[in-house]
Parts: sequence; C-alpha cells; structure tokens
Amino acid sequence: MIFKKSLLLSVFFCIVLSFFMITSASTADRYDIIIKGGKIVDGTGRAAYVGDIAIINERIVAVGKVSGDAATVIDANGLVVCPGFVDTHSHADRSIIRRPLAENFVMQGVTMVLAGQCGGSAAPSEDLTF
Ligand SMILES: [Zn+2]
Repeated sequence: MIFKKSLLLSVFFCIVLSFFMITSASTADRYDIIIKGGKIVDGTGRAAYVGDIAIINERIVAVGKVSGDAATVIDANGLVVCPGFVDTHSHADRSIIRRPLAENFVMQGVTMVLAGQCGGSAAPSEDLTF
C-alpha cells in the first residue's frame, strides 16, 4: 500500500521522539513503515541526502538505502524528512530570548523555527546580551 505526501506529516509526529535512536543498519526485511526517497535532514549537521527510513514498533531502525517490504510505504519523493516539524512562520522573535532552549516549541515537536518574516524583531536592544 502506498500513501502519498499528505500522510507524511502525521507520521512525523509519531517518530519524532525516536529519531535519535537510529541504528545505521537493520537486518530486518519486513518493516512497519518505510518512508522512501525523501531528502533526509538528520539533524547532525551533515548535508541533506536522498534516502529511506525504516520503522518497526514506532522506532527508526534503518536510515539510508532500505530494501525489504513494509505494511505501509510512504512516497516522500520531493519532500524533506527531518526530526520534527519546521515552523516556517513562528513569531519566535521575542520568546526565543526568554526561553533560549525553546522548550515550548520542542514540546510540540517543533525542532526548527524561522522568525522575522513579519518584520518584527527584538533586536537591536541594549537589554540583550548573547
Ligand atoms: Zn507573522
């Protein structure tokens, strides 16, 4: 069964917490879910690459070129697969200063925010030190 792109975001929510428990290889040939052909941004700082992600029991067990079968196969061709949601219009300009660890975002599964789209900014300010 192949699902299209609209299902991808709901799957992200389920796998966010397990993204950092990745093993580089898996000997399984049967998975619960395979996300195929996505542009993977793994959060390590390395460049994005096209690959697959295999999941068993809500845990990522393989990343890279995955062969085998799955109950659910998600076609991620042309999409970015990353560990969490990207909030592209967050208004975090001021809150990130009060909460520099961004716990309020992380608790919602947001791991990256873009700010400043509306032209507002907390800087420059004499009260700010970094
Ligand atoms: Zn705005």
